Amino acid sequence: NKVWTLRKRPVGDVSDGDLELEEAPVPAVGEGEVRIRTLFLSLDPTNRIWMSDRDQYMPPVEVGDPMRGGGISIVEESRFDGLQPGDIVNTGLGTWSLYHVKKGSEVTKLPALPGVPLTAFMGPLGMTGMTAYFGLMDIGKPKPGETLVVSAAAGAVGSMVGQIGKIQGCRVVGIAGSDDKCRWLTQTAGFDAAINYKKEDVGAALDRHCPDGIDINFENVGGEIMDTILTRLNDFARMPLCGLISSYNATEPVPGPYNFSMLLMRHVTLKGFIVTDYMERFAEGMQAMAGWLLEGKIKFETDIVDGLENAPASLERLFSGKNLGKLVVKVSDP
Ligand code: NDP
Repeated sequence: NKVWTLRKRPVGDVSDGDLELEEAPVPAVGEGEVRIRTLFLSLDPTNRIWMSDRDQYMPPVEVGDPMRGGGISIVEESRFDGLQPGDIVNTGLGTWSLYHVKKGSEVTKLPALPGVPLTAFMGPLGMTGMTAYFGLMDIGKPKPGETLVVSAAAGAVGSMVGQIGKIQGCRVVGIAGSDDKCRWLTQTAGFDAAINYKKEDVGAALDRHCPDGIDINFENVGGEIMDTILTRLNDFARMPLCGLISSYNATEPVPGPYNFSMLLMRHVTLKGFIVTDYMERFAEGMQAMAGWLLEGKIKFETDIVDGLENAPASLERLFSGKNLGKLVVKVSDP
């Protein structure tokens, strides 16, 4: 097997030597188990959280342990009823490795959807799609005519949030880090407006694009962008707090939010959530997202990096904003 092991906790950006690619034997397949080979490895901002020892929503990866990650795999050997060699499965919680031997009950066979590429199961039909769906629908509670603002809008989660918001009849404004991304948001993904936060005055642009204020802020970034949004929320606004990517690489305490009091002044509901909170309802989310996908109402992009050996160095794409849509590593061919 080829396995990425965490060798030391990164300081700031992940750098050479923080992880090491090691050779390891693949364990024999026991009764009720399967051996699966990774096709796509998912790279997620939360990988950076797991590499650190900050207080977090699950235990961090320990130094010396394989790096944790998810993805899509193919079954190569099965001693589990219901899975056969050649089946494509969701890896579940796995590691940054070529092979896993897991209980058959821990992996889920992916449905075959004609015309839908496998990468959709990393995006709209994967964890990021479920994050967008449940965060927006359950916490954001969108109503037709309301204004939704989403940050990291051209990323895996944000791009889905905005499109689901449009389907729900909202006015949708995205915030992203390049003109190309903003063009994709308005011209391909159907957002009403997009703001390039690296070039524009975000506050002034929000005032222009959200003349009736903001009813829902789907928050992916935190920091200055969130602070600017906080002062423009309407009474009884909802705020699904999905991520705070601007602070994941921080080496010093991150100041703010300075406008926290607006949550009180505007009677705002803010709720932090982790997608796994909704695990029991994934079938509902998958059905809704698959329906919209097949109807052509949802567009998605996948940013594909080649080769397991490039996984750690590619994580940086999420923090510099090089990715459009879901960042994945192609590990092997079916
Ligand atoms: P994305 O595909 O959105 O990639 C991250 C994007 O964040 C980058 O493309 C970049 O785009 C933007 N970004 C990075 N650093 C900054 C910064 N300092 N300021 C502003 N924007 C920045 O990743 P995901 O869709 O996977 O994740 C998006 C967010 O959702 C993250 O915060 C993540 O932690 C969170 N998340 C939460 C889950 C949950 O269960 N709560 C599950 C999955 C994700 P740009 O060019 O626009 O800067």
